[in-house]
Amino acid sequence: MFAQRKTINTTVSITGIGLHSGIYTKVALHPAPAGSGITFVRADLDGLRIPALQASTTALDYATTVGKDDVAVGTVEHLLSAIMACGITDVDIRIDGPEVPIVDGSSLPFMHLIDAAGVRTLGAEVPVLRIKKPIEIVDGDKSIRIAPANRLILKYKIDFNHPVIGRQSMQFDFNHDNFLKKIAPARTFGFMRDVEKLRAAGLARGGSVENCIVLDDQGVVNGELRFRDEFVRHKILDLLGDLALVGRPIVGEITASKAGHAMHSRFVEQILKAAAEQDEDLEPARVAGYAEA
Ligand SMILES: [Zn+2]
Repeated sequence: MFAQRKTINTTVSITGIGLHSGIYTKVALHPAPAGSGITFVRADLDGLRIPALQASTTALDYATTVGKDDVAVGTVEHLLSAIMACGITDVDIRIDGPEVPIVDGSSLPFMHLIDAAGVRTLGAEVPVLRIKKPIEIVDGDKSIRIAPANRLILKYKIDFNHPVIGRQSMQFDFNHDNFLKKIAPARTFGFMRDVEKLRAAGLARGGSVENCIVLDDQGVVNGELRFRDEFVRHKILDLLGDLALVGRPIVGEITASKAGHAMHSRFVEQILKAAAEQDEDLEPARVAGYAEA
């Protein structure tokens, strides 16, 4: 099972504040050749390249960070989620600072950015990872598993003791249009009661009512929700972004319950371990830049 390798047509950029660092950065997506993969490039640090792969992850508290040699790019998941939904396999993400802009807290601005650039096929293909045996991680009441399937399905369940959230569950059948309509607009969320603790830990410095759903003990303090179950939709968005770190398209039925970035990351590690053991996992030469007949 193979998918077309794809990149964008033209360079596009977006600027904004980082949710955790509070630092403004510019992110420019550049077309990249087949086989180069999805790569963060620190434009301000001699073009240091950090592949968007599981092996690059350095931190998983409240967001996913990739890095190399003490240099990091934080909060990559909302951008990677959009890149994955658009089927892009090769792109350089040039960024002039340590964190991807949070923009409105969702993936919608990145979907619009990619839409403005246009997507094209590269005349090469990438083998799709098809997990043959179930993999499961359970940690108390949190769990995540993947079962074999011939397409990508994400099921997510959350349970927050909060009047606006409560129990929410959703099944998402992965494809671009479904993502654009049902998942991409779902924003990240945070609780007023955690703000002080987060800021003391150097987090959420750029967080505001402009870029996340802010909740107090009674409800949402900043306007209307985009969906009644926006919270579980955002969890699916995050999971998809973390799955991008597999480094190639994946199919299977994934069921997650009360998981988060740290658990997603352990899960991706297990998936990669299983992939390395599967016969169908192909030699790297074929994965990178295998030209279509
Ligand atoms: Zn998120």
